[in-house]
Amino acid sequence: MSRNCRACHAKFIVLAEDQHFYCKMSVPEPSRCPQCRQQRRAAFRNSRNLYRRSCSASGKTIISVYSPEKPYRVYDSAIWWGDSWDALAYGRQFDFSRTFFEQFAELMLEVPRPALFNKGSENSVYTNHAVYNKNCYMCFNAGYCEDTLYSEDVVVKCKDCCDLTNVMESELLYGCVDCLRCLHSKYMIQCQNCSDSAFLFDCRNCNCCFLCYNLRNKSYCIENKQYSKGEYLAKLAELDRGSLSENHASRQKFEALVDEEAVHRALITSQSENATGNYIFQSKNIFSSFDVQTSEDLRYCYDAWDIRDCMDTFQTMDGAELGYETHASSVSVDAKFCNVSHENHDVQYTDLCFNSSQLFGCVGLQRQDYCIFNRKYTKSDFEQLAARIVEHMKATGEYGEFFPVLLSPFGYNETAAQEYFPLERREAAASGFKWFDDQSPDSQLSSLTGPARLPDRIRDVEDGIVGQTLLCSRSGLPFRINQKELEIYRKLNIPLPRLHPNERHLDRLRWRNPRALAKHACTKCGTQVVSTFEKHRPANILCEDCYLLHIH
Ligand SMILES: [Zn+2]
Ligand SMILES: [Zn+2]
Repeated sequence: MSRNCRACHAKFIVLAEDQHFYCKMSVPEPSRCPQCRQQRRAAFRNSRNLYRRSCSASGKTIISVYSPEKPYRVYDSAIWWGDSWDALAYGRQFDFSRTFFEQFAELMLEVPRPALFNKGSENSVYTNHAVYNKNCYMCFNAGYCEDTLYSEDVVVKCKDCCDLTNVMESELLYGCVDCLRCLHSKYMIQCQNCSDSAFLFDCRNCNCCFLCYNLRNKSYCIENKQYSKGEYLAKLAELDRGSLSENHASRQKFEALVDEEAVHRALITSQSENATGNYIFQSKNIFSSFDVQTSEDLRYCYDAWDIRDCMDTFQTMDGAELGYETHASSVSVDAKFCNVSHENHDVQYTDLCFNSSQLFGCVGLQRQDYCIFNRKYTKSDFEQLAARIVEHMKATGEYGEFFPVLLSPFGYNETAAQEYFPLERREAAASGFKWFDDQSPDSQLSSLTGPARLPDRIRDVEDGIVGQTLLCSRSGLPFRINQKELEIYRKLNIPLPRLHPNERHLDRLRWRNPRALAKHACTKCGTQVVSTFEKHRPANILCEDCYLLHIH
């Protein structure tokens, strides 16, 4: 059935399989298209913008995703998870003369929020949505990493790395995207089991290669041409001397090779059955979903690991089942319209609730059941009241969708939505999103070391650079070089960056296509394929059969 999206006004189709799921979850059909639904959930996730502020419980200075001017009570995470406060103390009666979301927004302002999500980590204060990291700095959606900086979405089991996006089980890497088990390398895109290399795209089991694409099991290649070890080392000494100018030239050459010479898979999927979407691995029956691992029966899910039978989820993992319109709702079963709520069963409209069941419209609860607006009820009273509120919400047009964007604690430009759906301030306002103006002293610095004064080659950089404030040559924002980071630049022969880590992050994201599917013809055989190459189209986008023929 075709509908018009209430937000962007584009037509979208509600498929029979979608309807089946809505029926199973007892929810009405959505009023927004899949893209607008995805954008709305992403507008609730700020994983990477951190601020100094005071803890509303202890008064101490803490690091948080909530900037000091945000109107919430923010607790140091250790206090938030402890027993010194009780979220039930904020309980209140639902008022049927008012809308649900108006009352929910008031509850969100009262109940404390944890400063960050960081579990089991050591010496890694500046990490968020992060678990079991050691000596890491500015890592987000990261787990089991060590001595790693400025890396995110996701990084798992990486050591001595800097500037990574979606990299796992790797060591001593810089500036890499979508890599697995790589070692001592820089500027690698979609590579696996490669080492001692730089500027590689879609290579497997290669070592000592430079500026290459689509190679398998090779050594000593430059621009896909085979050299002897001696020739390779002599050429490399000329090409890669750790200077900024040579680095720029190599990068330009690399981007041209990837765009014009390399072959690209229309969609990156492997060991998967009946799957449409991008970056889908070891999964089955996946429809229009992105970044999915070991999952089954998903529709419109993004960043899903090990979940099944879900629709419209974002950043959901670890055995979640029957999830609908959730953000970060892992290990939950039958969870609808939930924001950052883990290990729950049979819950609706929750924010920051954990290890609970039978909740409706609650904020910040842990280990509770049968609660509505943070007030506890008997089982039968809960069931009656929840049913009445659902009817009330249907009458006000509120039931059946994720939280309205005005309830997001963050400005649009602080969230993941800005990365996938970039908007100007004016456009964001027109769509009802909030905007954040950074007023922190760090953002107001001036008259600092400009990039022009930095040495061209890394070997000429002195130790005193650590701690100095530099200005980003693109955004003008100040940034600093960390000691660990300098060591990585020296080990990998990389010139000092002239860009703020945020700009470097955005540059890496350009290697990952938008999360939207477009149809076109395979460059080799003409078969119609679905891909994520819509605006940016390299010369060779191949169907899977042609890709395999070309590579092997
Ligand atoms: Zn739309
Ligand atoms: Zn083809």
